[in-house]
Amino acid sequence: MLQTLRFRFLLGAVILCISVVQIFRKSFHPAFLEKPAEADVLHPPVIREYQPKYCDNVYQLFCQKRGVSQDPTGFVHPDIDGEMQALKIYKDIIRQHRDWNVEQIDEELVHQIFNPKRREQVLTAARWVKRQIENFISRQPRSVFNAQEKRQILSRIRKTELELPPPISLYADEPDLFTRNEVYYQRTLDGKMRLRVGGAFLLIAKSWFNLVFTLAHEWAHSIDPCEIRSAHLSFPAYDRLTACLLQRGLIISHKTRSECQENDQLSETFADWIAVQITADALASFSTEFQTDQIINAARNSVRDLCEQDEDIEIDTLSYPAPRVRIEGIFGNNPHIRHLLGCTLPKKEPSYCTFESKTTGSL
Ligand SMILES: [Zn+2]
Repeated sequence: MLQTLRFRFLLGAVILCISVVQIFRKSFHPAFLEKPAEADVLHPPVIREYQPKYCDNVYQLFCQKRGVSQDPTGFVHPDIDGEMQALKIYKDIIRQHRDWNVEQIDEELVHQIFNPKRREQVLTAARWVKRQIENFISRQPRSVFNAQEKRQILSRIRKTELELPPPISLYADEPDLFTRNEVYYQRTLDGKMRLRVGGAFLLIAKSWFNLVFTLAHEWAHSIDPCEIRSAHLSFPAYDRLTACLLQRGLIISHKTRSECQENDQLSETFADWIAVQITADALASFSTEFQTDQIINAARNSVRDLCEQDEDIEIDTLSYPAPRVRIEGIFGNNPHIRHLLGCTLPKKEPSYCTFESKTTGSL
């Protein structure tokens, strides 16, 4: 038990050190120092081609903001804030209860972090996201999915379950998750499909739109092309979409790429692509209540954590598209998102990839 505690303390210390380095690097990174004031971006003095200037650079619009970002439904803090908060709670519990064993400490940790209010927020968003993904698949025309294909996809969406403690036994195989800022989809060896949400994420993601995008991305993995392939299924509509995403460079096609292997971005690009459709629904449902600035802040908060990476920190660009591709190519080019932001479709870009995309010159 002591060894486990020591290991987790050590892990905490390492994470804290990395955090301090990240914060230091971000504070002095030239890219941040050169960025224009936010007001200039949100209220551009020069209107070109009858649309706001930010329409030409959605990546900058979403990623230039530092620190906490707010929309009418709540905040999104930098990732590292949540882990620091969670580790502080963990250390305080240990300090106050030196005679407790690991289980007792984890019980209290989960009691404090996964409290009813935070759990309900995530559960409500998860129920909404699940229903919206089901609706998205159900409303596809017959030319995209036949009745059997729809049943197969919907069945996977419905079978996927969100695991959210308490009890602490839910994460017994991965107790570090109580303090980590991670949300992930997982298919177990016995075929169970589940989503898990780290404690740090609950502490920092309070915006409805961030919850929606994050959970929709993870839920989409239950039906991503690689999961479909592993279930020995294949859908022509998936092939059309994949070909389009490859052709547009939203999945990097390098020489050593091997579909659905570790160096392939297909499943991550697909998960983002689905999450964008669902987030567009969420933003649209608030669009009559929100003013333009509020819609921009809500859209930014949806994908806020995708642009957290610092250029100095090595990021996984083998299985994930680069942040600019995710935010501008997949999110910012979606016609519904652009409409909500008051932007026209980019002139240079052909139409957005769909399940009906063709891979000929008509793209
Ligand atoms: Zn993913």
